Amino acid sequence: MPSSIRADWILPITGPPIPGGSITIDDGRIAAVEPSPIAGAVDLGRCAVLPALVNAHTHLELSYLQGRIPRAASFTDWVRPLLAARRTPPDQDVADAAAADAIGEAVQSGTALFGDVANAMGALSALRRFKTPAHVFYELLGFTTPDPDARVADARARIEAEQRAATADRVELRFSLAPHAPYSVSPALFDAIRRDSTAHDARTTVHLGEGQEEVQLLADGTGPWRGLLETLGVWTDSWQPPGCSPAAYLQRRGFLDASTLVVHAVQFTAADIALVRDAGATIVSCPRSNAYVGAGVPPLGNFYDAGVPVAFGTDSLASVEDLNMFSELAEARRIAPTVTARRLLESATLTGARALGFGDDYGTIEPGKRAALISVRVPAAVRDVEEYLVSGVRAADVAWAFLNA
Ligand SMILES: [Zn+2]
Repeated sequence: MPSSIRADWILPITGPPIPGGSITIDDGRIAAVEPSPIAGAVDLGRCAVLPALVNAHTHLELSYLQGRIPRAASFTDWVRPLLAARRTPPDQDVADAAAADAIGEAVQSGTALFGDVANAMGALSALRRFKTPAHVFYELLGFTTPDPDARVADARARIEAEQRAATADRVELRFSLAPHAPYSVSPALFDAIRRDSTAHDARTTVHLGEGQEEVQLLADGTGPWRGLLETLGVWTDSWQPPGCSPAAYLQRRGFLDASTLVVHAVQFTAADIALVRDAGATIVSCPRSNAYVGAGVPPLGNFYDAGVPVAFGTDSLASVEDLNMFSELAEARRIAPTVTARRLLESATLTGARALGFGDDYGTIEPGKRAALISVRVPAAVRDVEEYLVSGVRAADVAWAFLNA
């Protein structure tokens, strides 16, 4: 049975808000979007209805670290206590409960789809239980991994087992491999992951240009990252500094193409941004996390000006206070005042869905897409509903607009 809703604003994302529009849902999918009320529609009143949001970069399995890693002045200063905390693996029940709480809170604040980074597959049971769609990037680290192909073969077996479990539970989870970052993955491991992704799902992600320390390490092999790698006992003189920028390094490793989600890009020059744009890759910006870890302020306005697809992510609860994507949008609005609210909203919906390979089902209000829709209560004084939605919306003002479809 089709059912319909009407609201003061429908935000299709493909165009401007539709005042007083209606949406008809049939069998869990959008059947029609109309600019006027239709008979029998449930009236949601002074609300904006928009596609549920997409968190394109998080680490749900780190949710148990919420509030445990202090804010830092530089990225390597933030990493040290993180590594120390992770040396003791969490109690599985505690980690599971924290991941489940994090997913629940994210869903409550309007997120439908995740790009999740996993090192230990620690949030998989929670994702399956909530039936939350996600692309899970099984992330590998190893600056001195002796046999990268064996490491990748193990990881491939692991994600195929997880894929079978998700399929059996009818949860839309998809998996592929990802290298963590240039300072934590050897060139040989980068290359082994690339061989795997060429043979399987090419979609991948990498943390890139997160802090100035990474730029320095790649430029000349010195600086705080070099010191930290030595302290950790993983530095090797066989690693030769490439003498180039982060984006140029990713390109040399064959990792920069339309299936790549480049995460952070804080320390990107205009040339880095142009390389990402020309490759057709997507930048996933996490500005609240960047501030917390001391990485800097991402040149968000420059990403948009250059024509790079931009998605947003919250990053993990180890570096951000909540997984509310509306809070991420508010920080984006603050640091990129010249970017229109409409483009920011497109980033948090359609661009994220496309980058994760879910663009046919999520990210816009159009016939054929899933009815993954949220409604946001809008105060009476608001004139510009798009600006309002990027000014910070509390979870309490968000509701799911699913119908009895
Ligand atoms: Zn991350």
